[in-house]
Amino acid sequence: MSGERSMKNSDGSIKLRNPNVENQEQDILYHLALGSGSHNLVEMFGDVRFVCMGGTPKRMEGFAHYIMKQIDYKLPSGTQLYDISRMSYRYSMYKVGPVLCLSHGMGIPSVGILLHEVIKLMYHAKCKDPVFFRLGTCGGIGIEGGNLAISESAVDGMMNPYLELPILGKMKRRPATLDKELCDELKDLGKQDDPFTIDIGKTMCTYDFYEGQGRLDGAFCDYEEEEKINFLKKIRQDGVINMEMESLCFAALCNEAGIRSAVICVTLLNRLNGDQVSTPKETLNKWQEYPQMLVARYIRKELGLQNPPQDHPQVVKDLRKLGIVRQESASFE
Ligand code: URA
Repeated sequence: MSGERSMKNSDGSIKLRNPNVENQEQDILYHLALGSGSHNLVEMFGDVRFVCMGGTPKRMEGFAHYIMKQIDYKLPSGTQLYDISRMSYRYSMYKVGPVLCLSHGMGIPSVGILLHEVIKLMYHAKCKDPVFFRLGTCGGIGIEGGNLAISESAVDGMMNPYLELPILGKMKRRPATLDKELCDELKDLGKQDDPFTIDIGKTMCTYDFYEGQGRLDGAFCDYEEEEKINFLKKIRQDGVINMEMESLCFAALCNEAGIRSAVICVTLLNRLNGDQVSTPKETLNKWQEYPQMLVARYIRKELGLQNPPQDHPQVVKDLRKLGIVRQESASFE
């Protein structure tokens, strides 16, 4: 990891590379609807150890509920999960004990903006050694739909292993390196009877879903099927197992911040067989739970949870008695 040595304090909290942030009266995390002056970020987020992000607000809300069960986290009576960033109308954010669940939207610009603010959030909150996960969807290259691809590193559409960003008229390159040990740890959490296989390999991160990923079914297409298949086979030979649109930036910014990170995606189709995502929605929804299952196993392991997750005992034990209680407490004028 390029910045690890200089990017952490001895207690594992993040050192920010940007002195301007400290010199501001307050740091407004605009797209999260939070601020270092307006909110007690240490109190709100200081215990976060796992940051899990995925594309859509709905999927990440679902993950928040799922992880709550998996880590046996009980909300105090009368409370419920709440989208902390709902006032931003951009991203959604749920906190379940030590797990922060965020939606990052689609593509490099969206995930990049979020990462700047979440990394600063970790800094302001003094979180210790947070680990970041992207739980995504992708097109498999030689992998059928409904299986997992863990990224060992990310490359752009030209097979370059770095994120390029023009800054003040100069091109800045940041290596898109991911944590190899974390990849292997996640793969080892696969079980014999899982409904999915797990592959580790390079991920090609593109700036577009259609032409950028060599699809034939966009609004424009200046190439033939044969050219597309040859390209996909060539990159597969060079170690690419999937394509998506966020990993390059996710890997590069986490690496720059000295944060351990992993990208786990479920394949929606095998791109060697086609371009359209035509699997029924119900099946796709099921598949999208697979990266969540693996990450939940990792989090449970890290938290030292041994017992299988329990369904919480019903809050209402007896519906008949509840009816009586309600009737008796109703006020009749
Ligand atoms: N996401 C992508 O970027 N590409 C696919 O083919 C599927 C999901």
